[in-house]
Amino acid sequence: MDGRRYLDAISSLWVTTVGHRVPRLDAALRAQLDRVAHTTMLGHGNRVVIEFAEELARRLPMDDAHVIFASDGAVAVEQALKIAFQFWTNQGVSGRDRYLAFGGAYHGDTVGAISVGDGGFGTDIFDPLRFPVLRAPGFDRPDAIDVAVGLIAEHAHRLAAVIVEPIVQGAAGMHMLDPAAFAALGDACRDHDVLLICDEVAVGFGRTGTLFASEQCGLRPDLIAMGKGITGGYLPVAATAASARVFDAFLGDDLGPRTLYHGHSYGGNALGAAVALEHLRLLDDEAVLDNVATIADRFATALDDTIAPLASVRAIRQHGLMIGIELAPPSDGLRWGRRIAAACVAEGVLIRPLGDVVIIVPMLTTTADEVDRIVAVVAAAIAGLTPSAAGPIAGPGSDPRVGALG
Ligand SMILES: *Cc1c(COP(=O)(O)O)cnc(C)c1O
Repeated sequence: MDGRRYLDAISSLWVTTVGHRVPRLDAALRAQLDRVAHTTMLGHGNRVVIEFAEELARRLPMDDAHVIFASDGAVAVEQALKIAFQFWTNQGVSGRDRYLAFGGAYHGDTVGAISVGDGGFGTDIFDPLRFPVLRAPGFDRPDAIDVAVGLIAEHAHRLAAVIVEPIVQGAAGMHMLDPAAFAALGDACRDHDVLLICDEVAVGFGRTGTLFASEQCGLRPDLIAMGKGITGGYLPVAATAASARVFDAFLGDDLGPRTLYHGHSYGGNALGAAVALEHLRLLDDEAVLDNVATIADRFATALDDTIAPLASVRAIRQHGLMIGIELAPPSDGLRWGRRIAAACVAEGVLIRPLGDVVIIVPMLTTTADEVDRIVAVVAAAIAGLTPSAAGPIAGPGSDPRVGALG
């Protein structure tokens, strides 16, 4: 409105991957408009959606992946939960009606997703609606995977699936574990015959340095939920992928008892698929993941040099281009995260905190100069808070436009 320009350092809340207004993605969307905008996938097909599904399946770390589309990450998770449950019932196995999830988990805002999620964000009001889950510790505890492995061994006969955000729990405040730690989780699921659902909604599509975070963990999940970056941040597309083993359990008579009775009106939207397909090709053609590695290193050095030494910083967590700077406010209620973000926005760098964790989730195509600018602006904003500074930082302390993730 006022002609100001901003550098988006949160990728429009983690959905945008290669930038805003990308000519190739714009062109793919326009070209699809000249063909068709949307046709139902319910009992029908659409060329571009099938082509996208095939390109995606080829890149997924699972055997002979099959894909069901939706519009939001939460629904990709719901689909995975329902498929996991029905996988067992289709084979005559009863009693597999529990899920194991992690502390601090965030899987979206539908009722199933908040059940496997670990609360927060004002969702406690819905506690009476949540179904019970087995809960391992969050990634802020180094023994999270060990405890989960023990719970799997103990409760396998009740478990439909384990659901996990591989490597990074984003919404928890960028808590992360070493990718190598996840092998034990995959092994436990395999040894005790429990399905593994990887929620790649936040970490997928290059954010952690590989197309899917599961790859770095050496995991081959039974189900993968995707969303956010799938169209490069253009359109609401989400997807749930199932391995051959899971898919095969649903084969049978047309509309017979093995059918998955689940679908969404806009699932497999052609405009979204056209952009998503071009996005996958662009990631390859432009070697975008190579840039992620280079830029992640530059961030690590810059954060270490200029932000880690600041007195008001408790910890810096980073994996790939998912970064959390945890502040150390001397008392509660100071809203440091909000104030830092406001100061950054005033300097033209779009930042949004999670409580007192300053989140940086930049574009995969961020340049070296942009890294330096983002880190310098955040460092200056944080330095303005240190007790030795002359006064409180400028900017609105309490922005009335507080969103769900405030
Ligand atoms: C954002 C997110 C979701 C939910 O996706 P929506 O598209 O907002 O419904 C699920 N899981 C994780 C890990 C997320 O970060």
